[in-house]
Amino acid sequence: MTQHQGALGKYPEYEATIGIEVHVQLATASKIFCPCPNSQTTTPNSHICQICTGQPGVLPTLNKTVVDFGIMAALATNSHINKVNQFARKHYFYPDLPKNFQITQSDTPIGVDGHLPIQLSDGSTKKVRIMRIHMEEDAGKNIHSATSGESFVDFNRAGTPLLEIVTQPDIANAEEARAYLKTLRATVMYLGICSGNMEEGAFRADTNISVRKKGALKLGTRCELKNINSFKFIGDAIEYEIERQIELLESGELVRQETRLWDTKEHTTVMMRSKEEAADYRYLLEPDLQPVCIDEAWMSDIQAKLPELPWQHFERLCKQGLTPADAQILIDDQELAHYYETASRYTTSKQLINWMTRDLLGYLKEAKISLAECKVTPERLAQLVNLIAHGKINQRSAQVVFIEIATTGAEPESIMLAQGLQQVSNEGEIEKMILDVIANNQQQTTSYRSGDDKMKQKLWGFFVGQVMAKTQGKASPQVINELLKKHL
Ligand code: ZN
Ligand code: MN
Repeated sequence: MTQHQGALGKYPEYEATIGIEVHVQLATASKIFCPCPNSQTTTPNSHICQICTGQPGVLPTLNKTVVDFGIMAALATNSHINKVNQFARKHYFYPDLPKNFQITQSDTPIGVDGHLPIQLSDGSTKKVRIMRIHMEEDAGKNIHSATSGESFVDFNRAGTPLLEIVTQPDIANAEEARAYLKTLRATVMYLGICSGNMEEGAFRADTNISVRKKGALKLGTRCELKNINSFKFIGDAIEYEIERQIELLESGELVRQETRLWDTKEHTTVMMRSKEEAADYRYLLEPDLQPVCIDEAWMSDIQAKLPELPWQHFERLCKQGLTPADAQILIDDQELAHYYETASRYTTSKQLINWMTRDLLGYLKEAKISLAECKVTPERLAQLVNLIAHGKINQRSAQVVFIEIATTGAEPESIMLAQGLQQVSNEGEIEKMILDVIANNQQQTTSYRSGDDKMKQKLWGFFVGQVMAKTQGKASPQVINELLKKHL
């Protein structure tokens, strides 16, 4: 069982019920119902036409790639695929929605009853059930000027294809929510159907949260947290919201059904609006689009092209000898995973992953650069790890070489030779140094030989340090340890 630090740890008699809806922006070339480019641009209203601005009398034409991507997502999440897909109009008024309805799917979503396996920090796997996946169009964007008081509408985003992926309320806490979102994001990125860029809004999560006393039959009243654009903020916001709701109930008040926003500065959630009910949208079938029939041939064609999925990759990495924690780091970051796969072609040493998670990631953070900008290429790091694995250099000197590669991009072996950092593992040479150290430190030697375990342990470090110093830190710690044991 996971130990909860937050509100659920403080109020163990409560449990939380969380469901998540994600809007996945599809990386198609054109929009969902018109030929406008589906790409980012800084010029407002430049990627628009009569269709995506909802002019009277125009007709939508469905982009087939959107359906391909929908089938991919449904297959990857083990969902059942509806053979007959219809579109529906969801009515609401907002200035960024020129038709006054959004074309979406209602009763026949492309995928239903799926699930996604998520890895938890205690090593267990949990299946989060997916209720539905449907295709829909995005709205435009309203921009409010803070200085002039004017408002603007940019329709570039209107008609961008989306998949909305909705879970059952299976998620019990912030950790599970974060694990689910990371897995789903990795999934759509592995499939190549979404950039996964959260800052740009390509992967947006809305979270429904309610709390109740354990054993209560009825679910508590839920609140929705809208559009939070980082995994950290989502976790923080869920923790905060669970605590807010429990404290309301504890003080005898009611939780009101509403949509709330996460304030990243104040670390609180704030009320945005009271939540509308589904009936308010007056769904009706979209008369301008034919139903899309997905036959077996279409599905099996896409099934055959599915790439390795994150949890399959995870299993493969674990089988290759990575710990689940290390494998998860790679799954969460496709670029890093690719780096690992490339470097693995040059080395079989198990030390590779340690050098990546410790030295490489540490260096990127410190130097504030991206992996792509780093001069330590997969090949260079593998070469360095091989020098260590073959006993040519010790860990300490390898760290010096690592920084030199990061600065110059040079070959590890030439750096090692140029700086004279080769490991000293000549036994005769080291043995002579050890005898010197023992002869010159009679007092420590006597204390060691007559001392208890604690004393021995303390002095061991002293002797190793003395020998190391004689080689400027280049001796093989293994050889020192063996020979010291022999002579002390
Ligand atoms: Zn258009
Ligand atoms: Mn939606």
